[in-house]
Amino acid sequence: MTKNIKIDEEIIIGDGSFTIIAGPCAIENRDQMENTGALLSKLGVKIIRGGAFKPRTSPKSFQGMGLEGLKMMAEIKSKYKLKFISEIMDPRDIEMAYDYIDIIQIGSRNMQNFSLLKEVGKTNKPVMLKRGMSATIKEWIMAAEYIRLEGNEKIILCERGIRTFEDYTRNTLDLMSIPILKEISDYPVFVDPSHGTGRRELVLPASKAAKALNADGIIVEIHPNPDEALSDGCQSLNFNEFENLFNEIM
Ligand code: PEP
Ligand code: MN
Repeated sequence: MTKNIKIDEEIIIGDGSFTIIAGPCAIENRDQMENTGALLSKLGVKIIRGGAFKPRTSPKSFQGMGLEGLKMMAEIKSKYKLKFISEIMDPRDIEMAYDYIDIIQIGSRNMQNFSLLKEVGKTNKPVMLKRGMSATIKEWIMAAEYIRLEGNEKIILCERGIRTFEDYTRNTLDLMSIPILKEISDYPVFVDPSHGTGRRELVLPASKAAKALNADGIIVEIHPNPDEALSDGCQSLNFNEFENLFNEIM
């Protein structure tokens, strides 16, 4: 039986409903987030994503707007009545970010950062734990245990693809983790079709597959102008493409 995770009175994850979370890879500027917020509220999407602390491969790539980005989101959130998910990479940032973020995202690269997991386990915010890119399902569940044993049971697992020999896609989306996790755990399971494929033309089929396999939701990267995105543009949908996905799935 999947645990219900209450984000607020209206948003419950794990109750059999299908939740779409969308937003850019990274918060870049106010216009971008204003436009994204307006689109989501028009469609009735209730949770917005956007990274303020970005785990980039190169230290010279855009690292995110940090606290400034989070503060900007406070206004967007209240204007469009949205909940906000964002990644925390460093336990030292939890206190500063706490009041701005409704769901704490733990990224793939930090799935086994045990000190970070223990710290978010001491909070009572919902946590989305993304699958490590080289983690087995059992390792992933054990990572969730680090959070749970500190007292925080509000955990959502997110399949975001694993590294395999296949390099046509950025990662290999291990869709079988959905029914497996439903069988052996009681955590809600999300799918990230954006990082899971790395290619925007595969985001819709991956999302349909996630829904068909009874995932609890998807988290999708969108951008007003993907070709100009500061990160992950090739896997980001533009607003029309996202609206189309929304209409096909919901
Ligand atoms: C992201 O959600 O932008 C991200 C960095 O994801 P992952 O940790 O799955 O690579
Ligand atoms: Mn990204």
